[in-house]
Amino acid sequence: MAEIRLQSLAHAYSPGGAYALKPLEMTWRSGGTYALLGPSGCGKSTMLNIISGLLRPSEGRVLFDGRDVTGLSTGQRNIAQVFQVPVIYRSMTVGQNLGFPLVCRGLPGGRIRARVEAVAERLGLAPLLKRPANALTADQKQLVSLGRGLVREDVAAILLDEPLTVIDPQMKFQLRRILKEINAEFGVTMVLVTHDQTEAMTFAEEVIVMNHGEVVQAGSPAELFERPATHHVGRFIGSPAMNFLPATQEGGQVTVPGTGLTLPAPAALPEGQLTLGFRPEHAQLARQGGQIGGTITRIWFEGTDEIAALAHPAGEIRIRAPAGGGMAPGNTAGVLLRDGALRLYSNGRLVA
Ligand code: ADP
Ligand code: MG
Repeated sequence: MAEIRLQSLAHAYSPGGAYALKPLEMTWRSGGTYALLGPSGCGKSTMLNIISGLLRPSEGRVLFDGRDVTGLSTGQRNIAQVFQVPVIYRSMTVGQNLGFPLVCRGLPGGRIRARVEAVAERLGLAPLLKRPANALTADQKQLVSLGRGLVREDVAAILLDEPLTVIDPQMKFQLRRILKEINAEFGVTMVLVTHDQTEAMTFAEEVIVMNHGEVVQAGSPAELFERPATHHVGRFIGSPAMNFLPATQEGGQVTVPGTGLTLPAPAALPEGQLTLGFRPEHAQLARQGGQIGGTITRIWFEGTDEIAALAHPAGEIRIRAPAGGGMAPGNTAGVLLRDGALRLYSNGRLVA
C-alpha cells in the first residue's frame, strides 16, 4: 500500500493539444478510499491510467510514498487495475485465473492455493474455483477480475475503472461492501472511477469531482453535500440538485429578489452574478410563512420522502419532505430554511 501523490500533473494526448487533464495537485493517503466522479469524457480514466502507469503524463510527476514512479510500468509500480469490461483468461479455470498473478511472480504452489482460496471465499467464488472461466456470468467474471487484483498481498493500490457498470444492482451493493471490508482489513489504497454519485459517496472517504478535465472539488461526502464549491458540484451531487436563486448585493446586504431572504455580504465579494444555494434537504415545507413562498406544481414520491416542486418567479424550488405531508399540487406553501443552510456563489463559485 502506498501514499499516492500527483505533482503538477497534467495531460494532453497530442503535443501542444488541449488538456484532457488540467494541471492538478493531489495527495492520497496510504490505505485510503477515493472516488473519481464525473460525467463521461471528463478525464477520470486518463487520471487513473496515469497513476497505474498505462499512460505517461505529458506534464508532472507521480510519486508513491515519495518515490518518483512516473517512468515505471504498471508491473514495476505494483498496481492492480480492474476495468469496466472484465479481463479474464477464458481458457483457464476460475482458480487458475485468480492464481495467475502469483504464478507469474513464482510463488510456491502451496501459498498460491491458500491465497486463492482465501480470496475466492471472500468474493463468494469458492464453489466455482474449478469452473472454466468462460462459463461464468458477466457478474462472476468481474468478481474474478477483481479477485486477481486482490490476490497479491504486496499491491501498492487497487485502481478500479467503473468496475460495477456490468454488475447487477443487488450485486453492486454487495461488492461495494466487500471492497470496503478488504480495504479495512488489508489497508490497501483504493481508487474507484465512477459516474454514479451514490457509488462514489458510499464508497469513498474522499470524492474527487471532475468536469471537463478539471478537478472541481475534492472532499468528504459530507463536505461535498454541505458546501459544494461550485454550481456544478451542487447540481451533480445530491438528488434532487441544490436549489439556486439569483441574488443581489445592496449596502452590505445580500438579498434574494422575490423572497424575504437577506444575509450579510461577505467582505471583498467578487464582481459578477450572485446566486444563493440551498439543498432540498435543508428546508421544510409549511402551509404558510417561511422565507420563500410559492405554489406547488408537482409532488413526486421517493419512498419515505416526497419531493415538492414550487413555482417561484426566480425559478423552480425543490424541497424534500417526509411523505404524507398532505400537500398537493395547486396548494400555496412556504419554505422554511434551516439555519446555516445558505450558501452564496459568485460566478458559480462558493464565496460564503
Ligand atoms: P472519462 O474516463 O472520464 O470518461 P477519459 O479520461 O477517457 O474520460 O477522456 C478524457 C478526454 O480525453 C476525452 O475528451 C477523450 O475523448 C480524450 N481521450 C481519451 N483517450 C484518448 C486517447 N487515447 N487519445 C486521444 N484522446 C483521448
Ligand atoms: Mg473512463
